[in-house]
Amino acid sequence: MNPALHFRVAVRDPHAHLFDVTLTIEQPAARTRVALPVWIPGSYLVREFAQHLQGLQAVADGQSVPLRQLDKHRWEVQLPAGRQRLELRYQVYAFDASVRTAFLDQTRGFFNPTSLCLRVLGREDEPHALAIEPPAKALGLAQWQLATALPPQQKNRQGFGTYLAADYDELADSPVTMGPMWSGQFKLRGVPHRFVVTGAPPGFDGERLLRDTQRVCAAAMALWHGPTSPPPFNRYVFMLHASQDGYGGLEHRHSTALLCQRADLPLRPLPGASAPTGAGTALKAGDGYTTLLGLISHEYFHTWQVKRLRPAEFTRYDYDRENYTELLWFFEGFTSYYDDLLLQRAGMMDAATYLQLLAKTINQVQQTPGRQLQSVAQASFDAWVKYYRVQENTPNATVSYYTKGALVALCLDLTLRAEGHTNLDAVMQALYARCQGGPMRERDLLAELRRLGRRAFDAELAAWVHGTGELPLQALLEQAGIQWLTETAPLAQQLGLRLADGPGLRLKSVLRGGAAEAAGLAAGDEWLAVEVDGQGWRVHSLDEVARLARGHAQLGTLAARDGRLLRGTLPWPVPCSTVQLKPAASPAEAVSSRWLQE
Ligand SMILES: [Zn+2]
Repeated sequence: MNPALHFRVAVRDPHAHLFDVTLTIEQPAARTRVALPVWIPGSYLVREFAQHLQGLQAVADGQSVPLRQLDKHRWEVQLPAGRQRLELRYQVYAFDASVRTAFLDQTRGFFNPTSLCLRVLGREDEPHALAIEPPAKALGLAQWQLATALPPQQKNRQGFGTYLAADYDELADSPVTMGPMWSGQFKLRGVPHRFVVTGAPPGFDGERLLRDTQRVCAAAMALWHGPTSPPPFNRYVFMLHASQDGYGGLEHRHSTALLCQRADLPLRPLPGASAPTGAGTALKAGDGYTTLLGLISHEYFHTWQVKRLRPAEFTRYDYDRENYTELLWFFEGFTSYYDDLLLQRAGMMDAATYLQLLAKTINQVQQTPGRQLQSVAQASFDAWVKYYRVQENTPNATVSYYTKGALVALCLDLTLRAEGHTNLDAVMQALYARCQGGPMRERDLLAELRRLGRRAFDAELAAWVHGTGELPLQALLEQAGIQWLTETAPLAQQLGLRLADGPGLRLKSVLRGGAAEAAGLAAGDEWLAVEVDGQGWRVHSLDEVARLARGHAQLGTLAARDGRLLRGTLPWPVPCSTVQLKPAASPAEAVSSRWLQE
């Protein structure tokens, strides 16, 4: 098969960070319109990928033809009658190391087709070919390999060649990575899973990463399909880039693009050291590798939860504008609930460690004043202008549909388990079956909760998802046998502020209703000094402030803002607390909820 829509991507100038792209359209319409997406599914922000497209030219049957730009991301070509072939040639600037766009230098290349591939309007449902040329020999990149989840039509040993997509959606959903790479593979229920890593440090233990990833994947498959049924995909590719300080992931139907810190990767044991065994490598809560496996677990879970089962509004993505849904608390939040829980279920983490991670999520939500203003349904809808546009007032005005959504999942799961008829795993499976792994609405979730839970959960969802009241976390966790303990919160939290990174006391955010706000401090201020008993003291850390404040109900503050010095009065706060969770005090309680594995 030779599709009538054909992209050719070439790496000719990695130092200029430019991909050369040619789109060939056979039998073009007399008026052909093309567009570049403004966003990439999974990352809910209009990113205007067209800002990086340059030098667009149109050639029909070997002759240059005029192009008209219609708006920020669409172009039109009017063709003389009888033209057989239209070629659009352009370059895309690629120097964003995130998983959402494109990157090219002499060390590696990566792109999402949403950044490189124009959509031919009206022909989105036709098959598309994507040919990627190996870098020219003169560039000295002979060791580069290429990986993508698209099925190949023909490729060389290093993976360069022509790949096929059934339609534009599949093309757009299939990132491509290239460069020197580590590559490994395993099969799960007959499905090949490939893992490629670029940027890995010397001594990287790929075998361990592969082994641990397989355990995570097996736990996810067991959740969605029980002990033996096959998953709804026939191939999967993990594409990880290890960088100095990056982090992120983006889900796709047959792959995921991941970004981690190089320091988070496992290293091979030194010769002579005792080799870690499966049981001897329990994950710890604060480790970078734990975070990486949580990310892998999260993106893999999305293969079902948002890439197949998905909001009805995402039945067909609209690449031209925002795609609004109120359901990100379910798709991102429930995925966040299960990402760490699956590590625990896979036997890679004990209950105490899992509970440390859960407590962190609870504290994050509790320390966000915006949870009392915005529901997670509203946060989902507003993701495009709020969650993805973080600014100093974000914690006061918004709540994260990831973290609070995860706690909604926890509350549902613990409630279902306590009532004894079902659990959230069974509800997820039933929902997937009900919606045939496709578009769904909130009422579908309510229907499965009612059927399997044997009562209506409308009131819970109204309060937890559409309301802003507190979740019944303590009662449900204690009922499940978990010990809910408290300890004094960090001083910044008590003072109602967040500090920017770096030396000195520079404020990133001032939290609603807190002591810092009462003192008139604002985001961006440098807090210079405090005044105690009529004497001024220069301060550089909150510890200094606390020492000076000992025994005083309030203290004067001096801060710099916009070239001026501002004085205020800071009421010293009553200590507030954060939550700590510990495993069940009695084994009987732990067994009765069967929530965490021991
Ligand atoms: Zn996610």
